[in-house]
Amino acid sequence: MMRRQLTIIGAGPAGLTAAIFGRRAGLDVLVIEKGMAGGQINITAEIENYPGFKLAGGMELGKILRDHAEKFGPEFMECSVESVSFVDGNKTVVTNKGTIETDALIIASGASFIKSGCKGEDTFAGRGVSYCAVCDGAFFADVPVAVIGGGNSAVEEADYLTQFASKVYIIHRRGEFRAQRSIVDRALANPKIETVMSSVVEEIAGQDMVERVIVRNSKSGKRREIPVEGVFVFVGAAPNLEFLTGESGLERADNGWIITDEKMETSVEGVFAAGDVREKYLRQVATATGDGATAAMAAYEYLSNEHYLRTELLEPEQVAVFFMSSIDPAHIALDRAICAHAASSGKKMITVDGHMNRRLREKLGVTSLPALLELSRGKKIRAITVNSIHDAEEFLG
Ligand SMILES: Cc1cc2nc3c(=O)[nH]c(=O)nc-3n(C[C@H](O)[C@H](O)[C@H](O)COP(=O)(O)OP(=O)(O)OC[C@H]3O[C@@H](n4cnc5c(N)ncnc54)[C@H](O)[C@@H]3O)c2cc1C
Repeated sequence: MMRRQLTIIGAGPAGLTAAIFGRRAGLDVLVIEKGMAGGQINITAEIENYPGFKLAGGMELGKILRDHAEKFGPEFMECSVESVSFVDGNKTVVTNKGTIETDALIIASGASFIKSGCKGEDTFAGRGVSYCAVCDGAFFADVPVAVIGGGNSAVEEADYLTQFASKVYIIHRRGEFRAQRSIVDRALANPKIETVMSSVVEEIAGQDMVERVIVRNSKSGKRREIPVEGVFVFVGAAPNLEFLTGESGLERADNGWIITDEKMETSVEGVFAAGDVREKYLRQVATATGDGATAAMAAYEYLSNEHYLRTELLEPEQVAVFFMSSIDPAHIALDRAICAHAASSGKKMITVDGHMNRRLREKLGVTSLPALLELSRGKKIRAITVNSIHDAEEFLG
């Protein structure tokens, strides 16, 4: 079985950026990709909102990102992750080419848009059919477009598209929108928006580019052709997490996105998530790369801390630990006095910031700060809440 310090699932913008930052921090990095490095941008014709690139081809940008990551020498493995498991702090990644034990894991497996499934959708993808208004809206200046869907994103994106398009048709299969009332009201007040309710798009048609949609009213059965040059499909998106087969312990939002904090930490210690796969406000290349950088540096911090804590706290036969808050002046003064006492009496003592090491605190059952503990090979022998240097002196002996 292979063992790695940092394993990254997915070589899209988030995973490749994490690889750059991870390698530059000196970590041993493995990147697993089942398709083409670059991720979703490979199916993007042009990108004009990624800083530094006024206009780039999607595949071209994907290759630049991969070349950049390769410069720092992470190992790439072309295979598919089939399952992951996190048991007793051990992180295991099972692929169709073998199993990897990893000290830290970044999940950057991205997301997939759900298609409407109508005729012509695949044929005109990138030639008028889009799944992202922020990405492609500006390419449809002064022409009519259609939006398929009736949820929050469909109605919000339709409203957003009115700043470019001459007219926006929202085509929804139900008689009422699923979107929030306030979002619908704002959109309906927009004179550029026309709703086509209880209707399904049967076909997206044209010559080389989209020219029209053929819509059937599900109540009357009547068909209608609407001339449009763009079709935006917003019937949903989902995170690529098929490999989360069993109970992973990863906290997820209702629709499956992984929940993280601002350091990209998930609910499982040492497991991070970056990019489109996580619950977030905006899914774009710029935000994915930012997530990747943050996740890699947070993983580095986690690994350094783990190493330090393991060697200094969890392995020694006997050690005293002072848990304190590094932003509390009284704790800092107490720490100085306790360290001086420990040094003069020849006791091994380590100070740990209880806020920064929340999980270690929880593991050792430290409920209030400041606290002194005596550990033997990671097991708590005794503990006290420290109110004064005298408490500490008595404890340390
Ligand atoms: C048509 C389209 C147009 C877009 N246009 C723009 C634009 O103009 N500007 C912009 O900023 N953004 C745009 N985006 C969005 C942008 O591409 C994404 O936000 C970005 O790619 C997210 O990066 P990521 O690394 O999080 O995920 P992804 O790019 O989705 O990469 C994830 C990678 O993980 C791999 N993976 C998934 N599951 C597994 C597994 N089990 N094993 C191994 N590997 C796995 C995938 O193959 C993929 O390569 C567009 C997206 C699409 C689809």
